[in-house]
Amino acid sequence: MRELTCIVCPIGCSLAVEEGQAGADGLSELTVTGNRCNRGPVYAREEIRAPKRVVTATCGIVTDNDEADNGGAAKSAGAGRSLYSPRRVPVRTAVPCPKEKISALLDDIYKTKVKLPVTAGDTIIADWRGSGINIIAARSLV
Ligand code: SF4
Repeated sequence: MRELTCIVCPIGCSLAVEEGQAGADGLSELTVTGNRCNRGPVYAREEIRAPKRVVTATCGIVTDNDEADNGGAAKSAGAGRSLYSPRRVPVRTAVPCPKEKISALLDDIYKTKVKLPVTAGDTIIADWRGSGINIIAARSLV
């Protein structure tokens, strides 16, 4: 038996998951108890068969030096940015990502640089590696 806490709503039911005999598809039947609503068993089955997480991270910001490297007008480093200007843009996946893909996703997010301004909800990476997962800005920055 496996025990899980349902995270679908704040009640946080304690779920007990019992695995039965494997069926023709090779997957065993899962019996879930302890749930107060039908979303609990759905959560428990997904958490055991194909766990996913919303991923949060940060992307770099395109700087004046980056622009100069790409043929733009060269400016002094840090021009237009104060000591308190954020150095990275917080981002998150718009939908949960399969756990086994999170490491590759983070690699790509950390390699990405964003040109300001950005508005919360802007798509930073669309359809990451054809997965249907969009990475969006988690806050607005100018
Ligand atoms: S089983 Fe239903 S009531 Fe219980 S935590 Fe999950 S969503 Fe909430």
